[in-house]
Amino acid sequence: MEKQGLGFRRVVLVPCPWQGHINPMLRLGTILHSKGFSITVAHTQSNSPNTGNHPDFVFLPILSEKKSSECNDSVDFVVSLSSLNLNHKASLQKILARIVEQEQKQHEGLPCIIYDALMYSVEEVAHSLKLPSIILHTSSATSVVSFFAYAQLREEGRIPSQGSESMELVPGYHSVGFKDLPVFDFKNEDSLLELTATLRNTGSSSAIIWNSMDCLEQSSLAHFQQQCQVPNFSLCPMQKMAPASSGSLWEEDHSCITWLDKQTENSVIYVSFGSVVIIDEKDVAEIGWGLANSKQPFLWVLRPGSVNGSNSADDLLSDDFKETVGERGCIVKWAPQEQVLGHRAVGGFLSHCGWNSTLESISEGVPMICRPSFHDQRVNTRYISHVWRVGITLENGLEREEIQKAIKTLMAEKQGEEIRERAANLKRKTEIAIQKNGSSYNSLNELVEFIISL
Ligand code: UDP
Repeated sequence: MEKQGLGFRRVVLVPCPWQGHINPMLRLGTILHSKGFSITVAHTQSNSPNTGNHPDFVFLPILSEKKSSECNDSVDFVVSLSSLNLNHKASLQKILARIVEQEQKQHEGLPCIIYDALMYSVEEVAHSLKLPSIILHTSSATSVVSFFAYAQLREEGRIPSQGSESMELVPGYHSVGFKDLPVFDFKNEDSLLELTATLRNTGSSSAIIWNSMDCLEQSSLAHFQQQCQVPNFSLCPMQKMAPASSGSLWEEDHSCITWLDKQTENSVIYVSFGSVVIIDEKDVAEIGWGLANSKQPFLWVLRPGSVNGSNSADDLLSDDFKETVGERGCIVKWAPQEQVLGHRAVGGFLSHCGWNSTLESISEGVPMICRPSFHDQRVNTRYISHVWRVGITLENGLEREEIQKAIKTLMAEKQGEEIRERAANLKRKTEIAIQKNGSSYNSLNELVEFIISL
């Protein structure tokens, strides 16, 4: 791998401790390591990454003063984020001070901090130690634009009274509808507006990194570049820009790859709702029978704890269902998703449309069936089905007939063929972006130069 002779300057990564945030941060670390930087990951003890998967990184746990509230449906998201930030600040300060001391002893330059936008308290710590810091946004630029837009729209009295039900498009906001705004799941509007203000303030950070690229959301990325006083870098798809390394918090079940090897090309529907979404028992039956009735082979991730009131997914599936699908279905607790989406047998992805899943699907040219739940997932879905037009949205949630129909459309109809063709074209654009002189390739080189210059 080409290194740029940097004297191995240290970059300290501070990820937010959720799977969808850890993955892009570790991928960024792998990319920067391949460019010659030394990487330290300062991580919380809850959801700590699997250190064995990254033998070249140094991992340092940040201790929490108190137990942070878990981020789940029963706890306000803003409250749990705020306690996460508050409780880890003092320990992070100590860790960073120690790193600075060590680096200075070895006559190395000051480390550069790259932190997840949601770990906003890092900026104050970095500033107090006079360390350069860079923000990593792990969501799409469009979802962040529309998140920030809410405060202004509300101030101008432009939120329609139906709010989350409104089909109207937000004027000037890149094809996003009012109902897609990633704000209506917040329980308390005041704390939402406070969070918006906090995240908007880039403070003394030196730059912003986006897990995105021009060919996906050029206008939203341009919007940020115009608004911000600091350089913006867009790197994507990160998992294709450096050697693969898993950031999974759960054990990946590789037996599904052996099962996929036996299936015919483009025949399998892959089903996963990521690491956070929780569904009901009724949804499990609707998905199961939708898949069974579609007659397509399927690989279904049923994450432990992802079904309300149940620990074991296996108990939820009736004998009748198991008998009907037999070998046609493969059900696992957690899959090596990048490998699954890159497998020749996978022909469609029924997804909650988290940003990582969306990017991973796009970069493998796999068309999607979208069933968003909350936050940025609705904006991503809007782009998948209406802007890039590489997927179909389940308009009525999880309902067996609609799932069966969407699978049929995708796998056996002209509309599906066109969607697949557009997905293949979009994949080609992502490949070009990371080739020499492509947008992500150039952006990475600019980022490397920028970090050296700090
Ligand atoms: N993932 C995985 N195996 C699974 C399901 C998901 O490795 O069985 C990974 C997936 O590749 C993605 C991440 O978990 O990188 C989920 O992130 P995303 O933004 O899609 O959704 P979130 O979990 O944040 O809702």
